[in-house]
Amino acid sequence: MPSDPSHPTSPTRRPTDEAYLDDDPFDPPSSLLTLPWADCHNHAHTLSWEDRERYAISGCRAMVLVASGYHWTPYKPVDAADVQFLWDDVVNRRRAIERNHFFETGLALGIHTGVRITNPDDLLALMEEYCELDEVVALGETGITPAQHAESWGLDEQRAVVQAQMELADTYDLPVLLHTPNQIEDGPDYRPGVGLPGFESNTSLGQDLVLTGDNPELEAVKMDVEAAADAGLAEERIVASHADSNNVDYLLGETDCYASFTVGYPWLTGVTATDVAEAIHEYGPDRVLMDTDCANILKTDVFSVKKAIFELYRLGIDVDDIRQVVWENPRRLFGFEDQDY
Ligand SMILES: [Zn+2]
Repeated sequence: MPSDPSHPTSPTRRPTDEAYLDDDPFDPPSSLLTLPWADCHNHAHTLSWEDRERYAISGCRAMVLVASGYHWTPYKPVDAADVQFLWDDVVNRRRAIERNHFFETGLALGIHTGVRITNPDDLLALMEEYCELDEVVALGETGITPAQHAESWGLDEQRAVVQAQMELADTYDLPVLLHTPNQIEDGPDYRPGVGLPGFESNTSLGQDLVLTGDNPELEAVKMDVEAAADAGLAEERIVASHADSNNVDYLLGETDCYASFTVGYPWLTGVTATDVAEAIHEYGPDRVLMDTDCANILKTDVFSVKKAIFELYRLGIDVDDIRQVVWENPRRLFGFEDQDY
């Protein structure tokens, strides 16, 4: 005899939730489980083999490996040969990474302004030759940095280096990955000497701001966009990585730049899928991207974009719009193969 009178076929002893959920409209979007996605900004060549395998397991189809960061150049100030080594390291291993993990890779080579470089003109001359390589799909990450590590670099010199890279990007029809500084809230008070746990940097070597004012992080982005104008680089060739609530209205509301939300380390930046959802609700998905920015020197999550895919859906974003943000936009901007996923 059925024990749940409203569901005569139910074998449960008394009604469960199931007896009341007939009108539940939720239809699980199983296509999200295999949705193709790209990571338009990471440093996966600095991670472990297992980390790169995790990208593949979570359905990452393509990524931009960024080689420009001063974190990996041991000497300060940096000279051109130090940065060229970073470029050569990723050129050296790119195809082996693809063979091991099956996702497509493109390279972004750049001159970062987080540490002063002694002979940037030599590096810019070299960069021109690297722009000819098929595997180079972007220049960067670069952009005005309000304060340097170990030794300051004047704003005029930084701006000249950023603008010169933008001129090259325009000449070679490459997008530029901007490093836009995040506005970071004060974290907990750590005991003296431990630095910033989660970031393998001697943070005590941080220098005074060379860009001051109420909002140097936003001011830096505005200077980058001005530099692009002077370089003749169209705003739609700029992907501003590290978009956050401090710069998104400027980027998406006042420029034609793309905004890529770095969701790989919210413990530091506070940036999560919620920020991405807000941007899509406000401005649509056409110029929104996401990236992990995963790197070995930072506590970062290679699954963060994949997790954000699910979270965006929960936050009301349609599957087609999510697909545009994590696949169609990066695929088109960085020229990844369209394999009819
Ligand atoms: Zn990065």
